[in-house]
Amino acid sequence: MLDAKLLEILACPHCVTRPEAPPAGKRKGEFEWVGEAAAPTGLRCLQCGRVYKIEDGIPNLLIEEAVLPGGQA
Ligand SMILES: [Zn+2]
Repeated sequence: MLDAKLLEILACPHCVTRPEAPPAGKRKGEFEWVGEAAAPTGLRCLQCGRVYKIEDGIPNLLIEEAVLPGGQA
């Protein structure tokens, strides 16, 4: 079940291990939804911009499979 609570629980596995401070007012590696809130297709990290896909309602948080803002994995 995907809901707003998920955004409070999950964090970008790349950014949580980095020393850099997150954007003002955000947690380290905080996510926003990609796509419609009712049926998001991914999670975008507000810190590094990586997009993690949501497949069959399950977020794939593997760093190697995330897509960087530039487009390459
Ligand atoms: Zn990140």
